[in-house]
Amino acid sequence: MTPSARPQLVPPTDPNVERAAELIRDGRLVAFPTETVYGLGGDATNDRAVAAIFAAKGRPAFNPLIVHVTDPDAVGEVAVMDGRVEELAGIFWPGPLTLVLPRRPGGPVSLLACAGLDTVAVRIPAHPVARRLIAAAGRPVAAPSANRSGAVSPTTPVHVAESLGTGVDLIIAAGRCRIGLESTVLDLTGAQPAILRPGGITRDRIEAVLGPVLASGQTAEAPRSPGQLASHYAPGRPVRLDAREAGPDEALLAFGPDAFVRGGRERLNLSPEGDLDEAAANLFAMLRALDRPGISGIAVMPIPDQGLGVAINDRLRRAAAPR
Ligand code: AMP
Ligand code: MG
Repeated sequence: MTPSARPQLVPPTDPNVERAAELIRDGRLVAFPTETVYGLGGDATNDRAVAAIFAAKGRPAFNPLIVHVTDPDAVGEVAVMDGRVEELAGIFWPGPLTLVLPRRPGGPVSLLACAGLDTVAVRIPAHPVARRLIAAAGRPVAAPSANRSGAVSPTTPVHVAESLGTGVDLIIAAGRCRIGLESTVLDLTGAQPAILRPGGITRDRIEAVLGPVLASGQTAEAPRSPGQLASHYAPGRPVRLDAREAGPDEALLAFGPDAFVRGGRERLNLSPEGDLDEAAANLFAMLRALDRPGISGIAVMPIPDQGLGVAINDRLRRAAAPR
């Protein structure tokens, strides 16, 4: 079967989730909501399904995928767990924390999903629709964000349809994602736990459980997360950071009170009250909304580098990086 010309958007009824699970068991791809962003899911144990994910996203095959399961027992089937995993799982799972762990020797996950590494990235998502889908598929589901590689991540089903078009067989539509930023990726395979990607769970909260954790970018060795490319999450138009005002043809992406900020042909505010959780949830949708004809670039006001602001600034720096 070839993918239909237009991906179908369907609500998360039981029959639709069952149909989506069947597609996944058949090696096809389904976009589904998680609490972070929409994922493009395929059978993590099927090399051809995993290859189709890389193809649909235009993602380089050296950038491994996160494997999603519903419970810690299933984590143990794909990875080698230790006491730290159990402690973290008790507090942060289900939720926006991805752990990089040693791959279980002889485990079922496609080597391609792990980009040939001897590690595997796993997460237990909290979104009820994601959980129903993975449970019904009855196997681990590999799912990167449901967008073309390098572009802004999707936080609504319409973003998925715009970004992936025919690359996906079915889109389960369940509104906006609550967190709106990807999971925190924590590497537990090195000498010290290290954050490879800041995200929905802050470093402070992880340190409260594990003690000292290296921040993203602090690892001495070569990057362990091949996906941390400088340019990523990039809209079509240039992004300018720490803007105190916007030019006449720029769009202004504001944060906090903006009444006295000059310029901007268009304006959106991530959070007029300066709430970082609200800003995270709005970030990708507002970057997309301002990325439109007549706008020369997007000027972004400074965001405090605390709490979820660390992950927001990580995404913004990559959105603004030279392409
Ligand atoms: P995405 O699929 O776009 O949410 O990105 C997943 C992130 O997890 C990327 O930054 C990957 O490089 C990272 N990742 C996935 N698997 C591994 C792994 N085995 N080792 C290190 N990083 C990984
Ligand atoms: Mg992504």
